[in-house]
Amino acid sequence: MTPTNEELEAKAKHFANTVFVIGAGAIMLAASLLQGFAVSRLGEHGGDIAFVIATIFILGFASKRASFALFAIERQCAKYGHVPREGSSVCSRCFQTIVDQPRTD
Ligand SMILES: [Zn+2]
Repeated sequence: MTPTNEELEAKAKHFANTVFVIGAGAIMLAASLLQGFAVSRLGEHGGDIAFVIATIFILGFASKRASFALFAIERQCAKYGHVPREGSSVCSRCFQTIVDQPRTD
């Protein structure tokens, strides 16, 4: 059974959130590993700088969350097929133009 559009969108959002949480965790882990190095190179404020840079990375990463969701939606389209809008060749799920629309009627 093909899942509904809502189910697929929920899955895509879940995928985007998971990618974000794992990515943010990896960035913070890298920052804490680099902290000792930053302190030895830049003095006692080096650790703060490492975390400020990590925070900037996470904010940039957060702004990319929509594209992770879109990536997940495109993968779902590849798996379940596009959902063309009525009277249009644009997919209502991923907004891609469907070139070779398979027609069964
Ligand atoms: Zn699509």
